[in-house]
Amino acid sequence: MAKIIEATVKILNTATLKMTRGFYPSSTDKHKGVDLIPRSTSETPAVLCFKDGTVAAVGNVSGTNTSTLTPGMGTYVAVQHPDGSMTRYQHLKAGSLKVKPGDSVKAGQKLGTYGRPTTGNSTGPHLHFDISLGEKPKTGKYIKAQFLGATRYYVDPVPYLTAPIRENTAKYICTASLLRIRKDSSLSSTVVGYVKNGETVTVTEVKNGFGRVKTGWCSMQYLRKVIK
Ligand SMILES: [Zn+2]
Repeated sequence: MAKIIEATVKILNTATLKMTRGFYPSSTDKHKGVDLIPRSTSETPAVLCFKDGTVAAVGNVSGTNTSTLTPGMGTYVAVQHPDGSMTRYQHLKAGSLKVKPGDSVKAGQKLGTYGRPTTGNSTGPHLHFDISLGEKPKTGKYIKAQFLGATRYYVDPVPYLTAPIRENTAKYICTASLLRIRKDSSLSSTVVGYVKNGETVTVTEVKNGFGRVKTGWCSMQYLRKVIK
């Protein structure tokens, strides 16, 4: 049940990414945030700050070290935001951090590089991203945990990313004899390839009547949804 989070979520500087694991507040297997991977398995995108704030901590917590209350975060950055919330970016590439504690950071600013290879307690490359509040939320599920000597309340990051999140979208079949794939979602954009009649493509986003396929954008006019 992988989900696609579109590029407007400026956490990983990549065209599209997948959420491989969601927020999970169960008592037996807690997961304080979301795990995100680029759709391309060779990319090492920049990890970007979610919103303006101040760097609260950086570090490299190796392996499964649990004594620090920050088990296995690997190379990480924690950013404190003026509204009391905090975001953390974990399992970054070793030695890639661009910020230090006390630095003012802006939304979209590069904090470091996606960990390929991964760091910390992680089975493979991914960005673990979480959001915690300084006060207990009035509604919704949360995970209470200590971080940097204070009680934090971790909440599901997905609602904060609501606008751009969508399920991995459907397959379409090409009904044109030869359908152009364009670089962008516009008729004046450069042709970068073709889809043949009867060929199926997976569309992950629709914009201006164009659907995003693997290598560019196709007019939706000639694509018919494949109903399973
Ligand atoms: Zn995680």
